[in-house]
Amino acid sequence: MDTKYAIGLGNNDVLTRKRAKEDYVKFWDEQANNLHWFEKWSKTLEWNPPFAKWFVNGKINASYNALDVTSQKNGKKTAILWEGEDGKKRSLTYQELLSYVCQVANTLKSLGVKKGDRVTVYLPMIPELVVSLLACARIGAIHTVIFSGFSSQSIRDRVSDSKSKVIITADGGFRRGAIVKLKQVVDEAISGLDFVEHVLVYEHTKIPISMGKKDKKWTDLVSGASEHCEPEKLDSTHPLYILYTSGTTGKPKGVLHGTGGYLVHLYSTFQWIFDIKESDIYFCTADIGWVTGHSYVVYGPLLHGTTQVMYEGTLVYPTPARIWEIIERYKVTILYTTPTALRMFMKYGDDLPNSKNLSSLRLLGTVGEPINPEVWKWYFRVIGKEKCPIIDTWWQTETGGALISPVPGLETIPLKPGSATRELPGINVAVVDDHGIELPPEKKGYLVVKTPWPGMLLSLWNDDEKYKTVYWSKYKDVYYPGDYAIRDKDGYFWMLGRADDVLKVAGHRLGTAEIESGFVSHKSVAEAAVCGIPHEVKGESIIAFLVLKEGITPSKQLESELIQHIRKVVGPIATPDQLYVVSKLPKTRSGKIMRRLLKSVANNEKIGDISTLEDEAAVDEVRNAFSELQKAIQESKVK
Ligand code: ATP
Ligand code: MG
Repeated sequence: MDTKYAIGLGNNDVLTRKRAKEDYVKFWDEQANNLHWFEKWSKTLEWNPPFAKWFVNGKINASYNALDVTSQKNGKKTAILWEGEDGKKRSLTYQELLSYVCQVANTLKSLGVKKGDRVTVYLPMIPELVVSLLACARIGAIHTVIFSGFSSQSIRDRVSDSKSKVIITADGGFRRGAIVKLKQVVDEAISGLDFVEHVLVYEHTKIPISMGKKDKKWTDLVSGASEHCEPEKLDSTHPLYILYTSGTTGKPKGVLHGTGGYLVHLYSTFQWIFDIKESDIYFCTADIGWVTGHSYVVYGPLLHGTTQVMYEGTLVYPTPARIWEIIERYKVTILYTTPTALRMFMKYGDDLPNSKNLSSLRLLGTVGEPINPEVWKWYFRVIGKEKCPIIDTWWQTETGGALISPVPGLETIPLKPGSATRELPGINVAVVDDHGIELPPEKKGYLVVKTPWPGMLLSLWNDDEKYKTVYWSKYKDVYYPGDYAIRDKDGYFWMLGRADDVLKVAGHRLGTAEIESGFVSHKSVAEAAVCGIPHEVKGESIIAFLVLKEGITPSKQLESELIQHIRKVVGPIATPDQLYVVSKLPKTRSGKIMRRLLKSVANNEKIGDISTLEDEAAVDEVRNAFSELQKAIQESKVK
């Protein structure tokens, strides 16, 4: 094992894992005592597969645990250090946040919002977004956040599904120096949707907006509202939110999360993963529009009374050094970001991060996609200066919180670039074959979760049937996340890509991440995406789409060099039949590569749901590159 990356924090709590192994239900029961409950639960877990109820009959409130608990101890502690893309700054203490949340909660009540009602939140990354979520949680309304980059049709689809009574939005938001007119998008989205009773508009950019019958200005209602609002004593299983998945593999699913179990999961995992300390300045770059923002911007950090940096806008605007400036300015100690963002930062070179003082950093996290080992090493060397552990966290919208990750808050283990290491205490995962039989180490298969966990989704909103089919029909009473993986001899997990995208070449199965990371380890390649097309002899042949690093031009020589490189680092079986150079890859708005679109283009099929696609031009580019090369191949055959 490569011990070069054994960056320890000195924690060595062997008991936690031992207790979790002995009895996972009892273990989570103990963890639940870290939270404030109005009434204690009578049963830790009620498991009627595939439906799990955690902390049955317990009464709890998410906003109380996120705000009141710290406010009572240390109300002056800073909760949010906010920075706008235009440089504006705001700071809110726990006490201020609590008063603000109560005002918004009372406003929602005055608009007729009751326990169980849905409230759609379509806001940029401003403190009001956090406030809106917690205000819903305070009164037992179910929040459903829509990422503020979505178009009106995507909002319409989601609002129609959740039947939200109220929509909270802003006049606009800042992105790459421009103003996105959010209110206008909402107007288009909800025209004719009678069940939407009110639209509450926060004036953030101060651009002119038209106000209709349903529209209410935030300041008009909120400023005068009382700063006190009793938290609803909610059942542990009361729904906290609906959140639509990233849509990487298909149409987004309305994931429904509960309260008690979800909070327990977040309290514990936030502690273990980030080894959180009173003095930390935490910065997660995820937008609250995605689950990482829900779990590790809103609930996880606030449950711990953490101070965090929140940033609106693009991390590379107005210059690519923006993210490093933020870290330097606020003396950030923990950074949590995504492989896609890291690949982008890497493209700009080492000089930018090297020119800033990043010495405050002590821990670095990643989430969202498999991290290429090359990118991991860059993060470790250039950003962490070889002193910060890299915490690769594997999880999903559905899992609520991390399930596989290093846990420096508990133990020190050697890290391996590209591996999310081991399952968290209280989590039982395995790699199995098509029949559900657990595979020995080093054998590729499907990742499964064998027992329920507290952050587990309750169901899909209004669609128990789909919930059963998507996650519980492949294996009996075992959760199927849809990821392909391998566990090595040391018990470390390596995520190989989506199960749907697995390539079958001449009897061998290859995960997309294996080949893509092979490409990314070449000095000329910034990003790679691969997919398969049917092949008469091999079953499937591999085609690869590559984004080259700045200043590299494609050539026949580079192509053969890349093919040789893949043969060497992955193996001859991974030799791609076709290589395409593109300037961008199709990605979801959360930054994940949408391989299903590449597959559709390559197989000349109709493209499915693209509501979560970031930039349609990327698909056109892939299509053009593909058809040009196809033409060239055809022509050379004719000759
Ligand atoms: P959809 O389910 O709608 O297709 P999605 O799966 O991208 O979208 P998310 O819930 O945002 O929606 O993402 C979860 C998925 O992201 C995981 O199933 C996994 O494929 C990938 N993922 C997340 N974190 C990691 C990680 N650390 N390593 C490898 N893959 C990861
Ligand atoms: Mg998914």
